[in-house]
Amino acid sequence: MPLPQTVALVPLRALLRHFAATFTFAAIILTLVIAVGVHLDESDRLEKTQVRESARIEIARNRVVQDLSAVALDLHVIARLPAMQRFLDSGALVQRNELARFFLLLSGVSGRYDQIRYLDTRGQEVIRVNYSDGKAYVVPADQLQNKAGRYFFRDTLKLGPEEIFVSPLDLNIEHDQLEIPYKPMIRFGMPVFDSAGRKQGVVLLNYFGGQLLQNFRDVMQGGDSRVAMVLNRDGFWLSGAKPEDEWGFMLKQPERIFARDYPAEWQTIAKNDSGALRSPNGLFMYDTVYPLQAGQHSSSGSALPRAPSQLYLDATEYQWKIVTLVPASALREQSWFWQTGNRVLIFAAYLLLALAAYLVAYLDLRHRQSTGNLKENETRLREITTTMSDGLMVAGQDGRILFANPAAGLLLGYEPGELLEADMHDLLHVHADGSPASRSDCPVLNNTRSGQTYRGVEETFRRKDGTVLPVSISISTVHRGEDIGDIVIAFHDISARKQLERELEYRAHTDVLTGLGNRRHFYELAEQEVSRAKRYGTPLAALMLDIDHFKKINDSYGHPVGDTVLQKLGEICRNTLRENDIVGRLGGEEFAILLPEAEAERAMEVAERLRLAAENTDIPLAPEKHFNFFVSIGVTSMIASDENVDAMLKRADAALYAAKNAGRNRVQFFGS
Ligand code: GH3
Ligand code: MG
Ligand code: MG
Repeated sequence: MPLPQTVALVPLRALLRHFAATFTFAAIILTLVIAVGVHLDESDRLEKTQVRESARIEIARNRVVQDLSAVALDLHVIARLPAMQRFLDSGALVQRNELARFFLLLSGVSGRYDQIRYLDTRGQEVIRVNYSDGKAYVVPADQLQNKAGRYFFRDTLKLGPEEIFVSPLDLNIEHDQLEIPYKPMIRFGMPVFDSAGRKQGVVLLNYFGGQLLQNFRDVMQGGDSRVAMVLNRDGFWLSGAKPEDEWGFMLKQPERIFARDYPAEWQTIAKNDSGALRSPNGLFMYDTVYPLQAGQHSSSGSALPRAPSQLYLDATEYQWKIVTLVPASALREQSWFWQTGNRVLIFAAYLLLALAAYLVAYLDLRHRQSTGNLKENETRLREITTTMSDGLMVAGQDGRILFANPAAGLLLGYEPGELLEADMHDLLHVHADGSPASRSDCPVLNNTRSGQTYRGVEETFRRKDGTVLPVSISISTVHRGEDIGDIVIAFHDISARKQLERELEYRAHTDVLTGLGNRRHFYELAEQEVSRAKRYGTPLAALMLDIDHFKKINDSYGHPVGDTVLQKLGEICRNTLRENDIVGRLGGEEFAILLPEAEAERAMEVAERLRLAAENTDIPLAPEKHFNFFVSIGVTSMIASDENVDAMLKRADAALYAAKNAGRNRVQFFGS
C-alpha cells in the first residue's frame, strides 16, 4: 500500500527519532506530575486514615480504662462497706451472710465477675460467689478452698490499705487445666482491715477480661479495613486478627508474638507510647494502656501462670498496647492510583500524549523542511539571478522597478540600487533613434493592462549615459489569483547582433571596391524611383558612365592602379551627386546614375560636372608622377512609355555608345 503523500514528505526515520524525543520528554513530565499527584493523594488519604484511626483508638483506650476503673471502684466500695467492717470486726456468721448477699447482688447485677471472694489471711476462702450462665450463686462452705499458694493471694496480702493488686490479663485455670472455652481473666485484689486497723484478709474479684476485650473489639469495628489488636507488655496477643495466635504465653508458645510477624515495627511500638508507623506492611497506629492506677500494684506479670511474683510492677510497667494495622493492600485499594478506572485514565493520557507528540514531531519536521526548502530555493534563485548574463527586472503594476539583477544594472550602466523604485518606462524606454517612446506603445505598460506575454520582442533601452541599447525582451506577468501582479522583464543585449545585421546589409548592398551601391541595390532603389516618378509625374533622368580605355590603364599601370581609378570615380560620384540621387556600379568600369526630379538640361549639367571632375582628378603613380583618366557619359530622360529602369538605361547606354564613337571624354544625350 503506498504511503499517503503527507507521510512521504517527511522521512520516516527522522520522524520516529523526533517523535521518540518529544514523547520521552513529555512522558517524563507527565510521569512526574502523576507521581506528585499520587504522592499527594496517598499522603492525604494516609493522614485522614491516621486521624480516624487515632480517634478510634482513643475511644477504645478510654473504654478499657473505664472498664478497669469500674472494677477498682467496686473494690473500694466493698472494702469500705459497713457490712464488711461489721463482719471483719465480729467475724459473725450473720455478718458473713450479709456480706455474701451483697457479693451475690454485685455479681448478679454487674455480670462482670467470674468470682467475688473474701479470703482470710491464711488464704482460706470464706465467701465465694460464682457467676455462670448469667446467674450468680454463693458457693457452699464445704466447697470453699484454700488459695494460700496462689500468687494473686500472696501479692494482695502484702499490700497496705487502699492498695489494689491487679493481675496480668490471662486465661482462667480450673483444677490445673486451662478452662475451655478460654476464659480471659484479670484478678483484682485488695486487703481489708478491721476497725482496729488489723489486716483480716483480702477481697478478690475475678474480672471477665473477655468483656473488656469484647468492648474493645466492638469499638474498633467498622471504619477502614484494618486489624485491631491488644498486646500485653511482651507483645503477646490478648486480642488479635487470628484467634489461634492469641494467648501464646498461656499456651507455652512463646513464638506467637507480634514481633514474630512485625519485628521492625515492634521495635518502635514497644519503645513509644503512641504514634503512627508507615511500613511496607501498612499503616500501624498504636497507643498504650496502663491498667494500673495510682495505688494499684501488680505482680511481675510473669509469663507463667500462677508463678509467684518476685517484685511489684508499677503503673508504667504494666501496660497493654492497642495496635491497629491498615494493611498495605487496603491502603493501596483506597489510593486513586490503584483504582482500575483511574489506571485506564492514566493509560489514555499517555496514549493521547503519544498522539500529540507524534503530531508535534510531524508538524515541526514539516515546518523545518519547508523553511529549509524555502531557504534553499531562495539561495538558488539568488545565485541564478546574480550569475545570469541577461538582465532581469521585476516591476510593479505602476511600472516601478522592484527588483533588478546585477546584469540589468551592468547592461544599462546603473548601480543595482539606482534602478529600484525608478519608473521603468520613463527611465529606459526609447526608440531606436534615441527619441522618447510614448507610454502607449510600451510593452511593459501594455502588459500590465492586458496580461499579455511578450517573448523575444526587440526593443531599445536607454542607458544611463544616454546611449541606446538594443535588447530582446520577454515580459510575463505573475498572476495572483484573478489579479495581475508583478511584471517580470527579462532582456538581453542584442547590440552585437544588430551590428552584424547592419554589416551584412551593407555588404549585400554595397560594392566593396568603390563603396557605391552594387548593381542589385541600384536596381532596387531605381525601380522605386521610377514608379514614384511615374506616379507623381515628376521628371527623372538616367546616366550611364564608362571609363575610357580602361583596359589600357590596367595594362599600362597594373590592375591595382585600375582599382584606384575606380575608387576615385566612386568618390567623385559621392561628392558631386545629391543625397537623393541614386548611383551604382553595374559592373567593371560601368556606372549608372538616376537623378530624381531632374530635367534633361540639369541631367546634362550633372553629367558634365562628373566628366570634368574625372578629367581633373590626378591619379598618383609615384612621387611627382601621375596621370588622368576620362569618362564618357550617356544621358536620357524618362519618357511616358518607360515601364522600368531598364528601358531608360538602354537609351542611356545607346547615348554612351554614341559618346564613345564620337571620340570619348564627352557627354551625349540620347537622340541628340
Ligand atoms: P573603351 O574606351 O571602349 O571603353 O575601352 P576600354 O578598354 O575601356 O573597354 P573594355 O570594355 O574593352 O575594357 C574594360 C576593361 O576593364 C576590361 C577589364 O580588364 C577591365 N576591368 C573590369 N573590371 C575591372 C576592375 O574591377 N579592376 C580593374 N583594374 N580593371 C577592370
Ligand atoms: Mg566598358
Ligand atoms: Mg571603358
